Amino acid sequence: LYILGIDTSCDDTGVGVVELTPDGSVRVRANRVWSQTVHAQYGGVMPEMASREHVERIDAVLGDALAEAGLTVGDIGAVAATSGPGLVGALLVGLMYGKGLAQALDVPFYAAHHLEGHIFAAASEAELQAPYLALVVSGGHTHLFDVPREGEYVLVGATRDDAAGEAFDKIARLAGLGYPGGPAISEAARRGDPDAVPFKEPLQGQKGFDFSFSGLKTAALLAHRAGAKPEDLAAGFERAAVRFLVKTTLRAAQVYGRETVVVSGGVAANRALREAFAASPVRAVFPGKGLNTDNGAMIALAGAAAIRAGREPSPLSEGAVAYAPLANA
Ligand code: ATP
Ligand code: FE
Repeated sequence: LYILGIDTSCDDTGVGVVELTPDGSVRVRANRVWSQTVHAQYGGVMPEMASREHVERIDAVLGDALAEAGLTVGDIGAVAATSGPGLVGALLVGLMYGKGLAQALDVPFYAAHHLEGHIFAAASEAELQAPYLALVVSGGHTHLFDVPREGEYVLVGATRDDAAGEAFDKIARLAGLGYPGGPAISEAARRGDPDAVPFKEPLQGQKGFDFSFSGLKTAALLAHRAGAKPEDLAAGFERAAVRFLVKTTLRAAQVYGRETVVVSGGVAANRALREAFAASPVRAVFPGKGLNTDNGAMIALAGAAAIRAGREPSPLSEGAVAYAPLANA
């Protein structure tokens, strides 16, 4: 069964194809993303422009994805599209497109949760079998979920201020390292001295599993004003952020008794974070290449999981939602 996945939650038009075999294994057959560039001149995403760009690009991205998979649209057996959370106008484009396609092809349609998509992106690399912990570190989220059973999400911790990716982006901008900040910080950090600028561990001594990046951001700002070198800022911040994320997650894994941790979202592309988790006692699972930041294949993987779990298709009346917490317990 070929499942088409569509994500237009923000400023990336993503279409992917996943193959679900009769034995229940999944394989990513295509993953095409058009990253909008019009927003760069404004220093942030302009929602109305994002919607219009999705409308203009989605046909072409679908064509590219089908070509990459070596399929025609008639081969698609199910369609999944993100219904939220995200920018409503942007979401609507992919959601309506997906619903229309499903109806025209007479195949089932599945509305997908964007964060569930980020988590299931890791299914490209390993069989995801609950129970596990899921750390979603992206541009808009820093959430730690316990997944005791398939499809059940318990919020264990979340950021109290900025998302991890947002902190990478803001500190990169401050240090003049460019956008997106994650890869820029990571690159600059390799040339920097992590001990040059002191970064204090956030929320030291907390009993819970929350996250916070405002203190690191302030430390970076003060050091920048005092003349710190951009690469030293990058190295110090990256090390502090990675240690904090890993330490908090490992503590939760111990308390919740989980051996597997899924790490996903754009920041999961970070090499230092991957290395730190790989060296830890938990079994860390990350999305495959190109599946960390927003994409359609992760939504197809979430659709595949829904189909495997025997979930009913979504009604075509399903709408787009800006705010949609994943945790249901
Ligand atoms: P959300 O999913 O919460 O709505 P989003 O979809 O905008 O947010 P993603 O596309 O998942 O977020 O991730 C983008 C973020 O990931 C950006 O903040 C970017 O800086 C960060 N990022 C990308 N690559 C890296 C990297 N190598 N190291 C650290 N951060 C990274
Ligand atoms: Fe995302």
